[in-house]
Amino acid sequence: MASVSKGKEAGKDKIAELARRRGFLWSAFEIYGGASGFYDYGPLGALLKRKVEEVWRDFYSREGFYEIETTNIGPRRVFEASGHLGSFTDRAVVCKHCKSFFRVDEGVDVSEPCPECGGELEEAGEFNLMFQTRIGVPKGEIEGRAQKKSEGYLRPETAQGIFLNFQRLLRFNRDKLPFGIIQIGKAYRNEISPRKSLIRLREFTLAEAEVFVGSREKNNHPRFGEVKDKKLRLIPREEGGEGEKEKEKTIGDAVRTGIIANEYLGYHIAKVEEFLDAIGIPMDKLRFRQHHREEMAHYARDCWDAEFFSERYGWVEIAGMADRGDYDLSAHASHSNTDMIVHLQPQVQGEADKDKVKVKTKIIPHVIEPSYGIDRIIYALLESAFYEEQVGKEKRNVLRFKNEITPIRAAVFPLINRDELKKRARQMFQKLRDEGILVEYDDSGSIGRRYRRQDEIGTPYCVTIDYETLENDTVTVRERDTMKQVRVPVAEVKATMILSGG
Ligand code: AMP
Repeated sequence: MASVSKGKEAGKDKIAELARRRGFLWSAFEIYGGASGFYDYGPLGALLKRKVEEVWRDFYSREGFYEIETTNIGPRRVFEASGHLGSFTDRAVVCKHCKSFFRVDEGVDVSEPCPECGGELEEAGEFNLMFQTRIGVPKGEIEGRAQKKSEGYLRPETAQGIFLNFQRLLRFNRDKLPFGIIQIGKAYRNEISPRKSLIRLREFTLAEAEVFVGSREKNNHPRFGEVKDKKLRLIPREEGGEGEKEKEKTIGDAVRTGIIANEYLGYHIAKVEEFLDAIGIPMDKLRFRQHHREEMAHYARDCWDAEFFSERYGWVEIAGMADRGDYDLSAHASHSNTDMIVHLQPQVQGEADKDKVKVKTKIIPHVIEPSYGIDRIIYALLESAFYEEQVGKEKRNVLRFKNEITPIRAAVFPLINRDELKKRARQMFQKLRDEGILVEYDDSGSIGRRYRRQDEIGTPYCVTIDYETLENDTVTVRERDTMKQVRVPVAEVKATMILSGG
């Protein structure tokens, strides 16, 4: 029986070291000394990330949502209208001694000593988190005058691109509500003190869904019945000052008692949990926390965070769910002088209604938004999948990823380093590859070492070719978590892997 250690110490730097060594994650610009808040994904990290994104796409496409892709850079007017230029700020403090800046949050306050050197901190004011850039030739610079129209910003969220295209999307949806649109892409925030691996980055990937719905329909989600009995760990905000308490409630109860603002928000909170569960975030490390009024973004009416408990960083927000009301569409309507209105068809109730004058109602829809930080989710997956185990006299690291997201699906080995076995193993490897399965081939070192190498990157199956294979066309398939081996005919290898989950 393997003994498992997964405490804080076990997990701590071992995950970062493994991620670096095995090609999941590297500090960006390493050869120039790096820069905090920027990471590159190596080959296995990029595969893992892509798989998580694919599961996400598939999940929301089953909701009937279409994906679009909008620009990363936007002109100043967009962010003036969206409110980001005025309100997308964090409070900063600076150390009088070492001059380091820190973001004021739960961990750092001006009354505390500097986390870097213990020096005294002082207020440094509000700091806008958007990266500014220039669009086109900066004419103003040549003439010595500032030119507003060449000013651009890197988007701090992908959502704005969806709002700007609202009229076209509405037409695409044949002028009917509700509908949802998704987008996955980079977002940029010039964070004041990005010091926690993938948790606080300056360039990161967001996966966002914007659901447009009439305000009167928000309490009437057609599929609410499917989620209403789902129980969630909720931390509602406490207005009275008694202190916040975790409550386990069904979504139905939370909406009925007004803890969650409406059915649409409730439904999408349930979907966030369902997705996180599907990719392997442990449900006993997940809770939903409601924002305090002063903590909410400038556009939000109600806001919840899905928080993951990290052994290393404590509770970390990995996705946010907001009721943005009509804030964004109204703001863009007035700043751009464009209609962001939906003409609702009159409801004909019956014969008696037939001859009445049918007046269309004009509304600006409301927006419900689930927004996922993909990089934080990747961190959460790495941390929760990582185990260090004692197997007999040996130690093994293992990443227990779900099959749906694991970077490499299988590895093929010859049992020993002999030409006839190598040849057969290569054939097997090529066959699986041709069938579209991502496989690796390895013939170096002992078989035990080869298993460990695959365990460490989360490969769920290792297929070994031995002398029996040459006699009767069977191979062994060894499973990562149980380390058990079964002998199966070559023709059944693929089915064995598929039957064992996903
Ligand atoms: P927000 O719009 O601030 O609610 O952010 C949406 C999601 O993006 C959050 O739930 C986080 O998972 C993620 N996120 C926000 N800021 C960062 C950051 N600096 N680095 C990485 N992920 C982030």
